[in-house]
Amino acid sequence: MAFDITNPIYNDADKARIHLEQQLWPEGPVCPHCASQHATALEGKAHRKGLYQCNSCREQFSVMVGTVFERSKIGLHKWVLATHLMAASKKGMSAKQIERMLGVTYKTAWFMMHRIREAMSPSDNNEGTDPIGGAGKVVEADETFVGGKAKNAHKSKPIPTKQPVVALVERGGKARAKHVADVTAKTVREVLVTHASRKSELNTDDALIYYWLGKEFAKHQSVNHSAGEYVGKDGAATTNTAESFFALIKRGMMGTFHSVSEAHLQRYVDEFVFRWNHRIALGCDDHTRANAIVKGAAGKRLTYRRTNEAANA
Ligand SMILES: [Zn+2]
Repeated sequence: MAFDITNPIYNDADKARIHLEQQLWPEGPVCPHCASQHATALEGKAHRKGLYQCNSCREQFSVMVGTVFERSKIGLHKWVLATHLMAASKKGMSAKQIERMLGVTYKTAWFMMHRIREAMSPSDNNEGTDPIGGAGKVVEADETFVGGKAKNAHKSKPIPTKQPVVALVERGGKARAKHVADVTAKTVREVLVTHASRKSELNTDDALIYYWLGKEFAKHQSVNHSAGEYVGKDGAATTNTAESFFALIKRGMMGTFHSVSEAHLQRYVDEFVFRWNHRIALGCDDHTRANAIVKGAAGKRLTYRRTNEAANA
């Protein structure tokens, strides 16, 4: 299904709310306070549309409670549109683009995008937390540096120096990527053993740190980039998948995000990881990807509050 900007869910707050209710409550309203599935819709002029009362704990709630959309004054249709735009954009969108398309202020666009990135961040809801790889699978590991002062950089806080990001990409599968303080055996190992199964075959370049880390995996192959080698000794080992993943992040960061501060870098990385893990080759389209963001929006209210404080600090 193509992306249709005239769809009522992008233009009417009620239709957007019903859409979110269908996504988050496929079997009917669930109380965010006590998880009861018995609630009564509060109808009539005295109540906002979409308000429910729990029959068990008597608390009132709407579909937004407990999600990254909670307590927002922005119409839900704008949230749904922004979510779908970010889901469909391969290279990422700038806050300027969202500002224009939604008719909101730049500041509002910026905050909306950060909340949506929070919904994209790894959680159990979007299968973003399980280790990747496994027996018979190849995991490529590589590190790259992103950010730094780009040409045309915004005056507001660009990342002062290039920041290292470690990525693990399962060949033909999902990715995990983490911003690290520096590239050492300790920081890289932490990412590797937390996010990849040690039953995997590890493919890396020939950097010394991987020589020892490789011994913790079922098999390790390395490519000697410095000697101009791009395929390993047995012909199969490469880090090409990890490099395509990094190319996507780097293009996105340079083209769209001129002023990513170090504190927010992991959120942008999460956005690219999310889209990679919900790409067409893995059976996703723009709609299933957008719906996965909505599912990830649930249960993130608390983490978002922390972000917001950090952003204002
Ligand atoms: Zn309840």
